[in-house]
Amino acid sequence: MCVSILSRARVLNQAQHKISLSHIGRDSCRDVTDTLSEGRIKDGALSCDTISNTEEQVIYLIVFHAFFFMFIWSYWKTIISKPASPSKEFCLPKVDKELYEKEENPEAQQEILKRVAKNLPVYTRTGSGAIRYCDRCQLIKPDRCHHCSTCDRCVLKMDHHCPWVNNCVGFSNYKFFVLFLAYSMLYCVYIAATVLQYFIKFWTNHLPDTHAKFHVLFLFFVAAMFFISILSLFSYHLWLLGKNRTTIEAFRAPVFRSGPDKNGFTLGFRKNVTQVFGDQKKCWCLPLYSSTVDGQTNPRPLSESQNHLLGNDMHSEEQKDGSPANIGLFTAALEDSDLIRKLLCD
Ligand SMILES: [Zn+2]
Ligand SMILES: [Zn+2]
Repeated sequence: MCVSILSRARVLNQAQHKISLSHIGRDSCRDVTDTLSEGRIKDGALSCDTISNTEEQVIYLIVFHAFFFMFIWSYWKTIISKPASPSKEFCLPKVDKELYEKEENPEAQQEILKRVAKNLPVYTRTGSGAIRYCDRCQLIKPDRCHHCSTCDRCVLKMDHHCPWVNNCVGFSNYKFFVLFLAYSMLYCVYIAATVLQYFIKFWTNHLPDTHAKFHVLFLFFVAAMFFISILSLFSYHLWLLGKNRTTIEAFRAPVFRSGPDKNGFTLGFRKNVTQVFGDQKKCWCLPLYSSTVDGQTNPRPLSESQNHLLGNDMHSEEQKDGSPANIGLFTAALEDSDLIRKLLCD
């Protein structure tokens, strides 16, 4: 598929060139070819009939290559970005790892994992409420991290393994992937739009009977077809971006201590976008790394993550003066009813 999209892009590029460059060449050489018959020029040069001035042709070429360059750049970045894996702190310490491997009782194994996970920013659980552990990579999976069987590794904020780019789309390249979709869509719609007038002329028999006919038909159909298919995928990923969800999470909501929550990571549209595209708007259109998070610690709205931290703070306050401090603030902030009940009882 990866080869397919590149080869198609190359064909689109070549076909567009054949139309545009031949037109410019013929236009600029019009004085030289004064001796040639007017009929031959009309037959051979589509631009003589359609694009009347060189400025228009130059603009067409510049815009075309601008989109093409951005498309290839973002595509290349998506392909070469190595999927981000969890850091060593998510691996079990040697002693715990030996204990875990020796232990045959799953419940006792979970206790080991729970003890280690206590010090990690991990809030998601398996469907049964267990700590998410990858036996293959031998690590506790950070939130939003999943094991990719194709890449044979755990991938941070894994979205999906994409055969089009032959790579995992995840934390390290999600921005590049979205830009790749955006630029490939713009590239296709630009080609379709610039060829449209010739395409209409073809159907109304106003197009000169030359080889350009084939290019016009091919360009329009392929560009329009790719535009429609990419538009649906791009729209879907924009929706995911706005909701701060991955494709995996859209199909299966992440499970927290309080249960599944499909909006578990959403921080509001603006923050969701800046989490992927960064704070600086000037970098949004460029396939350069600009995420505001590290991929391992995923900020959550008024959530279990805060509960966890506030819970720790609460214990330290209790130890100091023997009474729960700022209980009103905490009850307003905490969603975890079990923790609230526990604190109030204490
Ligand atoms: Zn793994
Ligand atoms: Zn993968």
